[in-house]
Amino acid sequence: MNRPVLLCHGGAGSKKPLKAALSGLEKTLAKSFKLLDDGGSALDAVTSAIVHMENSGLYNAGKGANLQLDGIRRLDASIMEGNSLQAGAVIGLEGFANPILLSRLVMDMAHKVFTNLGAAKIAEAEKIARLGPPNERSLKRLDRAMAKGGPALELYRKYFSTVGAIALDSSGCLAAGSSTGGVFAMLPGRVGDTPLIGSGVYADNSLGAVACTGRGEDILRLCLAKEVCMNMKNRSAEDASYLSFKRALSLGFQAGILALDRKGRWSITHTTAHMPAGAASKEGVIVRDRFRRVE
Ligand code: ASP
Repeated sequence: MNRPVLLCHGGAGSKKPLKAALSGLEKTLAKSFKLLDDGGSALDAVTSAIVHMENSGLYNAGKGANLQLDGIRRLDASIMEGNSLQAGAVIGLEGFANPILLSRLVMDMAHKVFTNLGAAKIAEAEKIARLGPPNERSLKRLDRAMAKGGPALELYRKYFSTVGAIALDSSGCLAAGSSTGGVFAMLPGRVGDTPLIGSGVYADNSLGAVACTGRGEDILRLCLAKEVCMNMKNRSAEDASYLSFKRALSLGFQAGILALDRKGRWSITHTTAHMPAGAASKEGVIVRDRFRRVE
């Protein structure tokens, strides 16, 4: 029997997270850890945690997702399970609130990755909740960003509040998932690391599980999730993350990761000043806005 563990994050960045984002993480961890504690699977706990965060509207995922520059929300998500190495992902989903549920469904299908064309049809058939129209506040925020234009957009990228979760269940199975609205004020059609298996997420019971957040353009070039998992073959989650982050930092990357090795040792590491995240185990729930910063 393994000791179950669940980790979640609400993004990484240079701006201090809102209190609501931290308390949202606490609620998510408490609720979804119960599933693991009752003998549920790592995959179900990860799915439940991410749905909870997508529905909260507090993060850049699901109901709270960023708009692309044409005012449309296009959502990306992926999920992976470490026993069968099954994985599913959706890219650029429009009009539906829970891309993680769709990724979970896709995982059991013949194809493993869908863009909006197929993903929206599956979402419709499976009755995935619809996404309402963007609120006034996000439309205004987009207008302001457009008015400032060009480099000023970087100001809005100080905080990447994507969500992610990883878990180890009592049978020793690992899972990882992530869901995002991408980065703020991005060009329509832009895709980051989140729906790319091996970049945004990876899980393999013989290695570990990882979920990444931060500037997708950085993370996907290192295939960071798979790299940290490979490093966990003969290192703890902490040492494996540190090793990859030293290199990522030398390349100027902005990133944060959750990592869990097969023995249940975990680590939350970031190059950014903040990374609201936490862990739940039988010992209780820990949530903070900073963990191990590599600088
Ligand atoms: N990695 C995500 C992306 O680039 C953003 C984030 O983690 O907040 O789309």
